[in-house]
Amino acid sequence: MEIDKGRIVKYEHHGQDVYVWENLKGAHRDVCLCYSCDVWKPEGEDKCPIAQANYDNCVKFGTVQPVLECPAFRLSEALKGLVEVVESE
Ligand code: SF4
Repeated sequence: MEIDKGRIVKYEHHGQDVYVWENLKGAHRDVCLCYSCDVWKPEGEDKCPIAQANYDNCVKFGTVQPVLECPAFRLSEALKGLVEVVESE
């Protein structure tokens, strides 16, 4: 993914005006490991404490912080056979 550093735009997110590189607006869904992780359960008692703390921080400060690296990541069942997880390089 390339970042076009030509334009930063402002829009409303979680009730606050925020700034973002224009071509990265909404891109967190494409890069955040949580969306591909078996540990991620956004609701309920067994939701991921790391993802929840990160989300709480985002809401508190109006930021968007995709999880790009995580020691607790586990590939979701739905992606098994479609995504290769390399344990060491
Ligand atoms: S374990 Fe890591 S990648 Fe998985 S949901 Fe939690 S924070 Fe996201």
